[in-house]
Amino acid sequence: MKIESWGRYPKLPQKGLFPDWQQQIAAMLNAASDGRFLPFGNGRSYGDVCLAESGQVLVSRGLDRFIKLDREQGFVRVEAGLTLGEILAVIVPLGWFLPVVPGTRLATVGGAIGNDVHGKNHHVRGTFGCHVRRLWLWREGQLLECSPAVNNELFRATIGGLGLTGIIVEAELALMPVQNGQIDTVTHRFDRLEEFFSLAQQYDVSYEYGVAWIDCVSRGSQRGRGVYFAGNHARYRSEIDIQQRQLNFPLTPPVSLVNSLSLKAFNEFYWHTKPAHPKAGRASYLSYFFPLDGILHWNRMYGRAGFQQYQCVIPLANSEAAMAEMLESISASGSGSFLAVLKQCGEVESPGLLSFPLHGTSLALDFPNGRKLGRLFQRLDDITRAADGRLYPAKDAHMTAADFQQAYPQWQQLEALRDPAICSHFWRRVSA
Ligand SMILES: Cc1cc2nc3c(=O)[nH]c(=O)nc-3n(C[C@H](O)[C@H](O)[C@H](O)COP(=O)(O)OP(=O)(O)OC[C@H]3O[C@@H](n4cnc5c(N)ncnc54)[C@H](O)[C@@H]3O)c2cc1C
Repeated sequence: MKIESWGRYPKLPQKGLFPDWQQQIAAMLNAASDGRFLPFGNGRSYGDVCLAESGQVLVSRGLDRFIKLDREQGFVRVEAGLTLGEILAVIVPLGWFLPVVPGTRLATVGGAIGNDVHGKNHHVRGTFGCHVRRLWLWREGQLLECSPAVNNELFRATIGGLGLTGIIVEAELALMPVQNGQIDTVTHRFDRLEEFFSLAQQYDVSYEYGVAWIDCVSRGSQRGRGVYFAGNHARYRSEIDIQQRQLNFPLTPPVSLVNSLSLKAFNEFYWHTKPAHPKAGRASYLSYFFPLDGILHWNRMYGRAGFQQYQCVIPLANSEAAMAEMLESISASGSGSFLAVLKQCGEVESPGLLSFPLHGTSLALDFPNGRKLGRLFQRLDDITRAADGRLYPAKDAHMTAADFQQAYPQWQQLEALRDPAICSHFWRRVSA
C-alpha cells in the first residue's frame, strides 16, 4: 500500500505501521524508530492533514471489526478502521443509515471523526461528530473512553482533532432509521448563481439532502449555471439496481487530462445531459451519495503532479457576493475542474473544537497542480479572508499559518491537548 493523500500532493515519503489488532499498537510504536507518528485512515484527505511530519503513519484500516449493533436503539460500536461503506452495507438492509456521510464511502470512521466530515444534510444533522456517542482513544500508552460525560475536553478536541489527540480505536455511532436504500431525488437546472441560493432555501424546507454542481468555466450569460440535486430517503422501495458499477482509472498519465479545453467540453456535455425542467427520480444511495467512488483511482486523471482542492465556507451574509467573485476569478484563470460543488451549511453546532462548517455556503473545486495555481489561490484566499470565511483542513495543502490561526482561534486548545508523539505535516505548517 502506497501511503499518500488523495490529491497526491504534497509528495512526502511515508512509512506505515499496520496493526490488525488494537493490542499490537503499543509494541509497534515501541519498536518504531523514534515513536513519532500520525494516525492514518484511508488517505481520502486531499492534502497533508493525513501525512506525518515524522514520515511515519499508523494505519488504522486493519482495525475493521463490528463490536456491537443495537437494532432496537439504533447504534453501532465499531473499530475505527471500518469504512463508512462497510458499515452501510450491513446496516442499510436492516433499516438503518449513518446520519451524516461525506461524498466518499471509502473514508474510515477514524478519518470521519478526525476531520469531523459533513454531508449534503448539514442544515438538518450537522457534522459526523454530532452523532458520535462515545469513542475510545489510545493515547500515551493508555486506552481512554471519551464522551460528553467522560473526558469531555478530550472528546471535543478529538472530533475534528485532525488525528492529533491520539489513535481512535473504537467509536459508538448513533444511526437513523430508513425504510430502504433508495433516495427520492429532484434534479433542477439553474442558469445563474443567485438561483442556487433561492433553490437551496426552497428545497431545504422539505428535503434532507441538497447539493449543487456548478459550471466553473463558463463565461458571459452562462456564468454561474449549475444543477441542484435535492434528495430524501424514499419511503417505498422500487425496483432499481442498488449496486454501483465499478470502473477503474488504470494508470497515471504524465500530464493532467483536465485542462481548459477538456473542461469546457465536459461541462457543456454534462449540462446538456440534465433535464431542462425540474425532474423527480429515484436513485440508489450509492449513486446518489458516492458517484465518484464508481471510478477507482479517479485521482490519477490529474497526472503525476497531482491536484489540489480548494474548499472554503463563507458566512451566509457574505456568501452570495463572495461566491460570485470567486467564480469570476476562477473562470478568468482558465483553470478549474469538472468537480465543482456548492453546498449550504446550517446552524447545527458540532461538539468538535476545530470543526470546519459554519452557517453559510461552501464551495469546493479541484485544480490540477501547475505554475498558475499559487496566484489563483492567493486571490481566492483574499476573498475568503475578506468575507470572514475559512478553508477546510481535510482538503488543504496551501493555507498559511496566519489564515489558519485567524479562522480557527481554538487551535491553541487543540495544541495543548495534542499527544506529544503525534504531529502532521499540516499541523507543523499551520501552527508555526
Ligand atoms: C471523493 C471524495 C469526496 C469527499 N467528500 C467529502 C464531503 O462531502 N464532506 C467532507 O467533509 N469530506 C469529504 N471528503 C474528504 C474525506 O471525507 C475526509 O478527508 C476523511 O477524513 C477521509 O477519511 P480517511 O479515513 O481517508 O482518513 P485520512 O484521510 O487517512 O485521515 C484524515 C484525518 O483523520 C485522522 N485519522 C484517521 N484515522 C484516525 C484514527 N484511527 N484515529 C485518529 N485520527 C485518525 C488523520 O490523522 C487525519 O488527520 C471527500 C473525499 C473524497 C476523496
